[in-house]
Amino acid sequence: MTKRKNIAVLGSTGSIGTQTLDVVRQHPDRFRIQMISANNSAELLVQQALAFQVPHVVICNPDKYREVRDALPASIQVHAGIDEACALVQAPETDVVVAAMVGFSGLKPTLSAISAGKTIALANKETLVAAGALVMEQARVCRAPILPVDSEHSAIFQCLQGAQGNAIRLIHLTASGGPFRTWTHAQIAHARKEQALKHPNWDMGAKITIDSATMMNKGFEMIEAKWLFDVDPSRIHVVVHPESVIHSMVEFADGAVIAQLGSPDMRLPIQLAMAFPERLPLEGKRLNFSELQGLSFYEPDREKFPCLQLASVAMERGGNIPCAMNAANEAAVAAFLQDRIGIYDIPETISRVMDGVNFVSNPSLEDIFACHEEAFRMAETFLRPL
Ligand code: MG
Repeated sequence: MTKRKNIAVLGSTGSIGTQTLDVVRQHPDRFRIQMISANNSAELLVQQALAFQVPHVVICNPDKYREVRDALPASIQVHAGIDEACALVQAPETDVVVAAMVGFSGLKPTLSAISAGKTIALANKETLVAAGALVMEQARVCRAPILPVDSEHSAIFQCLQGAQGNAIRLIHLTASGGPFRTWTHAQIAHARKEQALKHPNWDMGAKITIDSATMMNKGFEMIEAKWLFDVDPSRIHVVVHPESVIHSMVEFADGAVIAQLGSPDMRLPIQLAMAFPERLPLEGKRLNFSELQGLSFYEPDREKFPCLQLASVAMERGGNIPCAMNAANEAAVAAFLQDRIGIYDIPETISRVMDGVNFVSNPSLEDIFACHEEAFRMAETFLRPL
């Protein structure tokens, strides 16, 4: 019998976190939840702790500690603060850490898990955007396997399983194009939050859904692919594929293109990352090829979606620039969600911040944290107050 894997979930109440627990619910003989953490969603965290009888529960916002502690029996240990989450992911009994926190805040606990040599199921792409060189080096030194949960990167990872060490000629990174794919520049300029939050194919959290609407998400994913698969930026090609049937492709020297297809369901990459190399059964919608109306592909429009271009520039410049870009984006997306700015103010802010920060070519972890703070504050000065 295969050993049950102990899973720690950073960000268990978000979109990836709840779907991770769905996977565990379907395979109780294979996975056991060892630890869950959330920033603020105390109520859902408590429900999850009870449903899965999770031994360790972390609420990162210490103001919510009482609420969580009082709602749970003494058999469940409740901890407060991000530092507790960083310590708990290193527990010897933990096998896989699902890094599903949103944004830059995921960097510290993910690095902590890597340092302990844990297998990382990585959903938090901002970790690699902000500190890809450091994260990959740490993973190499500590022999921590990083398995991608992002659907495109999981697809690339799957396409590479038969590569036998042959080099990648091109990665074709597919993009749905988001809710504004067919809109004009002028229409996008007046897009409201509610419209940006309606993704055509994927059901995700608010931050990543806005990132998809601006295509910054695809920009992040280019950088994520560069680090995960150790490829030169020139070998990453973004292609818009509105049906989201092909989740990405790898092209080799002989022109062969290997693709991974499936219904858009994040539980597949989550489950594969946790169970790898095994493929476990997964209930859900299957692709029906006779019902497919055809697959289409376009080049992305970088004028309508300047975030994609900014990400290319950041990836080329390297150093701390992707970190600054990510921080500016976090500040700007938060402002957009508060109705403080229009959608094109997001790339405008990012561009000004990328030009404004001091360039550091080989940033240390301290440099990265300092750059994030500086860039976030700089972005705030460009954004209108409430
Ligand atoms: Mg993705």
